Amino acid sequence: MVKGKRILKVFIFSLVILLISGCSKKINNKDANSGKLKIITTLFPQYDFVKEIGKDKVDVSLLLPPGVESHSYEPTPKDMVDIKNADIFIYTGEYMEPWAKKIADNIEGYDLIITDASEGVELLEGHGHEEDEHEGHENEDHAHDHSGKDPHIWLDLIYAQKMIDNITVALTEADKENKEFYIKNAEEYKKQLDLLDKEIAEALEKVNSKKVIYGGHSAFGYFSMRYNLEFITPYKGFSPNAEPTPKMIIELIKNIEDAGVKSIFYEELIDPKVAKIISSETGAKMILLHGAHNLSKEEIESDVRYIDIMKGNLERLKEGLGYEE
Ligand SMILES: [Zn+2]
Repeated sequence: MVKGKRILKVFIFSLVILLISGCSKKINNKDANSGKLKIITTLFPQYDFVKEIGKDKVDVSLLLPPGVESHSYEPTPKDMVDIKNADIFIYTGEYMEPWAKKIADNIEGYDLIITDASEGVELLEGHGHEEDEHEGHENEDHAHDHSGKDPHIWLDLIYAQKMIDNITVALTEADKENKEFYIKNAEEYKKQLDLLDKEIAEALEKVNSKKVIYGGHSAFGYFSMRYNLEFITPYKGFSPNAEPTPKMIIELIKNIEDAGVKSIFYEELIDPKVAKIISSETGAKMILLHGAHNLSKEEIESDVRYIDIMKGNLERLKEGLGYEE
């Protein structure tokens, strides 16, 4: 059953590669109709970064549909065709999107710039495979296992700037005419992120408790290292797919009671059932901590930006951890 599924996936993937490599090359880099660079990104952060760098000179789209959980996302055949027709395809990295890395490895010679936004960032090591935790419920797809290294670099405002540098290289390569424009926008945006980084560092230096009880998957490893916080979560992996065991949840509830913690943070776009259980057992208040992988339909409609998410997280961390001016 499991094996059959894997074979089918390999087959679909080969078909897609065939589709991509068999098509004729584009004549130039810009869309013939709009004159804009056509860019496709996997996750929300790089989508928003492209908008900041490219402004009206790019036509950027986000592969993930609104509200979709990103770790379990598999590209559709239409996604593959869209990627083929783009000038630039930007993914987070091989641990977030192993399928994108395969495209990158197989597309040599084609007129499409593929950017690994994490290039040059030293990724944190993970906890290794967790299959033994789930007896009789083996991880169905190893290509899906993201527990190797932590892909959540966008939640670190310094690494986010490295992503912006990588994206800027792609834009300036694809559209040399507007090179100065992209570089200038990127520099201005990075300055804003630098200021926000300092604001977050100063505020989190002063919170009453550095312990963040998190009912979501391990997305804040880089963030917690940058700002000296301690994240405690019953999830073991870098993806919400491997849910915590009852034993881990019970242990966490005990920790919360012993430490007198008053807030439990929960993640975006997923039913926060783990956080709800912990909250109802301990009376801890539930507060959202947004991992920015993707946005809900409502957030997209109200034009929420990456900086808004990070500022919102800061405010809610201050509320949950205790903060006095
Ligand atoms: Zn994640």
